[in-house]
Amino acid sequence: MKKPRKFMFRSASKRPMSCREVGKWVHYYLDGELDEGRSARLAAHLEDCRRCGLEADTYQRVKAALAGRHSAVPAESLARLREFGARIARGDEPVDR
Ligand SMILES: [Zn+2]
Repeated sequence: MKKPRKFMFRSASKRPMSCREVGKWVHYYLDGELDEGRSARLAAHLEDCRRCGLEADTYQRVKAALAGRHSAVPAESLARLREFGARIARGDEPVDR
């Protein structure tokens, strides 16, 4: 396992993080590579937003599977991740919170 690196990002604002931003940063967050301001806002969002919380869970499962054995990542989880990424890229904001 490589050591987590701290990335420096400019001016994390205080406004709540949107689902779109969470989609953008959650992987860094789960890898321990996000700065403190963003991590706190992201964590707060995950507490409120079931959908993003679920996404974070899925990512963690994929990571765990990758760490455990290099082959067997559930295809379903990968498909879900890809779908989520594509949705975020289109700019869809989930409305159910
Ligand atoms: Zn969300």
